[in-house]
Amino acid sequence: MADHKLPVLPTSVVGSHGRPGWLYVFRDAAAGRELGSIDIQEVGDDAVRLAILDQEEAGIDVISDGEMRRTMGYYRGYMARFENVRPAKEPPLRQLGPIHYDFIRRHDVVGPIRAPEGMGIVDEFKFLKRHTTKPTKATCAGPLNFARECNLVTHYKNTFDLAYDFARIINAELKGLVEAGADFIQVDEPSYVHLREEPTEMARLFNATVDGVKAKVALHICFGTHAGRPRMSRRTYRQLFPKIMEAKADQFVLEFANRQMAEIELWKEFSVDRELGMGVVDVKAYEIETPEEVADRIRTALKYIRPEKLWVNPDCGMGQSPRWIAVEKLKAMVAGTRIVRQELGVK
Ligand SMILES: [Zn+2]
Repeated sequence: MADHKLPVLPTSVVGSHGRPGWLYVFRDAAAGRELGSIDIQEVGDDAVRLAILDQEEAGIDVISDGEMRRTMGYYRGYMARFENVRPAKEPPLRQLGPIHYDFIRRHDVVGPIRAPEGMGIVDEFKFLKRHTTKPTKATCAGPLNFARECNLVTHYKNTFDLAYDFARIINAELKGLVEAGADFIQVDEPSYVHLREEPTEMARLFNATVDGVKAKVALHICFGTHAGRPRMSRRTYRQLFPKIMEAKADQFVLEFANRQMAEIELWKEFSVDRELGMGVVDVKAYEIETPEEVADRIRTALKYIRPEKLWVNPDCGMGQSPRWIAVEKLKAMVAGTRIVRQELGVK
């Protein structure tokens, strides 16, 4: 992407934005009714316009479409685009009480997977491009993320075997994004810290996913934010380093705010030559950071990483945050970044 047009310490988002209240009202009102494609399109368009407006007004440098059409979360809605992938017969482990990871319905893979119509992310991106003049980021869940939610009923030997087929489909989608004008694409793979495979295996899979994709590519690895809750209790990236650097990602997008900047030293310890998209606001917390707190986190990072390699982000997507909190956190993020830019003597 045209990074020279961006300020030092560019601010961006991880993907999803807080949804307006009416989107929940719409979802409830629509439950059990058959909607037409125009109903769905119009509601999605309106929600994306709001997400664009919120990000622009907050002063974010590189915006997304807020993933507003992904009402089932950042990946689950796409499961319906894949042939031979269907909701598992067994219900989720639990449906009563507080929403947690055991609420999620798994999927059965019953044959070789295909996506003859693509995933639909290219069309989502085209709408974003038509409605903003700001630099943009396109986002897509990664192959391991899809594969680990699937039960292997037939055809595939193991989760990685299946993940490589998802990678093939995602790769085509990412190339479509580039054709549509995307110059910055992020692949989301929280599974990298959930699964126990060697980081080199994950890097190889990532490289297959982005092979030949002519854009700046980022890899987001996080600890989960389902219903605002992390999946992992041991929130560390250390086991991934240094092998994860074999992933041909231009930028790593990681959580730091909710870990009080723990492990920022990894960047120096392993002489990481890649950009860091660093989380400076905690999307899992109700409290809104002050600009000074954000500035402090950036100052801490600058002890370990050069400013030209640092981007400023929330920890994760904000789709599980109330919209007003998401907006206030974005504003604090921008204001805090501006404090540090001033200290650095740059705009
Ligand atoms: Zn995340």
